[in-house]
Amino acid sequence: MIRSLSAKFLLLLVSVVAVGLSGTFLLRELMVQDFRGYLEGEMLDRVSWVVASLESSRARAGLWRREDLVRGTVWAAMMGMDLKVYDERGALLMDTGEALESLPPLVKKRMRAVAAGGERAQREYVPAPLFLGGKQIGRLEAWVAAPRREALFVRRSNKFLLVSVVALGGVAVVLSIVFSRMLTRPIKELTAAASRISEGDLESRVHIPRSDELGTLSETFNAMAQNLLTQERLKRRLTADIAHELRTPLSAVRGELEGMIDGLIPTDRKTLESLHAEIGRLRSILEGIEDLSQAEASSLALRKEDLTLSHFLRNIVDRYQGVFEDKGIALSLEAPEEAVVAADPDKLSQVVINLLSNALKATAPGGKVAVRASRRGKEALIEVSDTGRGIEEKDLPFIFERFYRPGHPGRGSLGIGLTIVKELVQAHGGRVEVTSRPGKGSVFSVFLPL
Ligand code: ADP
Repeated sequence: MIRSLSAKFLLLLVSVVAVGLSGTFLLRELMVQDFRGYLEGEMLDRVSWVVASLESSRARAGLWRREDLVRGTVWAAMMGMDLKVYDERGALLMDTGEALESLPPLVKKRMRAVAAGGERAQREYVPAPLFLGGKQIGRLEAWVAAPRREALFVRRSNKFLLVSVVALGGVAVVLSIVFSRMLTRPIKELTAAASRISEGDLESRVHIPRSDELGTLSETFNAMAQNLLTQERLKRRLTADIAHELRTPLSAVRGELEGMIDGLIPTDRKTLESLHAEIGRLRSILEGIEDLSQAEASSLALRKEDLTLSHFLRNIVDRYQGVFEDKGIALSLEAPEEAVVAADPDKLSQVVINLLSNALKATAPGGKVAVRASRRGKEALIEVSDTGRGIEEKDLPFIFERFYRPGHPGRGSLGIGLTIVKELVQAHGGRVEVTSRPGKGSVFSVFLPL
């Protein structure tokens, strides 16, 4: 089993090259065969021309004339043939040497140059009878120069094949190296980064500036690493926040208890009540943290129902009307439109109640708190507005953060309520926004998909 990508690439390319080359080789073989057949045909044709020429001159003259024999033999020599002509009794009438001898010296020299066609052994022997009127009048023996063109063709095509093998093989090797490098380098980089992350280095990133699938993979990888880092930071911060929140009431309780043990603080009902209140605060912090972690996990466990907002909000407002009246605050509801949202009733109640309880805390007697529901395009909007103290602009970006309590928070203020609101609304696929004018009041807007 081949494991490395480079070896696989090489194998792939070499096989492609091999298939291509075998095709070329087959084609060459067929072409050589055809070419050889063609050349052989041509050679026999030439012998037939000489036979025809000799027979026709014999027919014209009625006997073997020396000049006809010389002309025919010289012509044959010009076509690369070595010739011997015999009469019907087998006596040699003419051969190439004799024919060339009888030429004028200058022509003879030229002819020798033309007819110099190598040894007879390298030539093809073609015998042919000579006929006239159905009667044999002699025969000739021809040694035809083996067609040099064939050898040339075979040699050339061999050279071509060799060059192709070397060139294509080289290209295959180079391409496989280049391709496998291109592919394996980013994969190695990703593997290294992934193992660094698995060892705890969450800040490890890859840099693969490519627009192909590997580029996308590296972007996804980086996004995943960033996500892990964010989660890890949130987890650390939450732990630190919780420890910080618990430390103050715990030290207060401990201090008071130590004072009581040392006899510095009297162990009377008042101190015990104060201790009890402090422990109650600890408990409510823990409950708040529990609520928060539940809210954070709630996107996994929402029990959604179709809720008609006007009815749903009416129930809540009616339930809390008394508390607001006791503080001298007017609580009103406007929900004219029949907006229906798919939401978990418990979780959505918690959202509205958290917003209402914040409004109640922030508004002085004589103020107003209003709940409104309406449709905004594809969203339902629940607004909780108050005429309370408002929120400073510098605090606005942070009030949804956990444990964020601007100013001097009263007792029982944990800075978790709005975080829970945000988590729950996001779990429903919605968002929450706030606008506020210090001294005038605030409006919290919850948008939910319809
Ligand atoms: P908590 O109410 O427990 O302090 P929250 O997360 O609900 O925590 O709110 C965070 C902070 O935002 C509050 O301490 C308060 O300062 C501010 N806040 C929230 N709602 C209002 C509001 N309606 N008016 C003015 N300030 C608000």
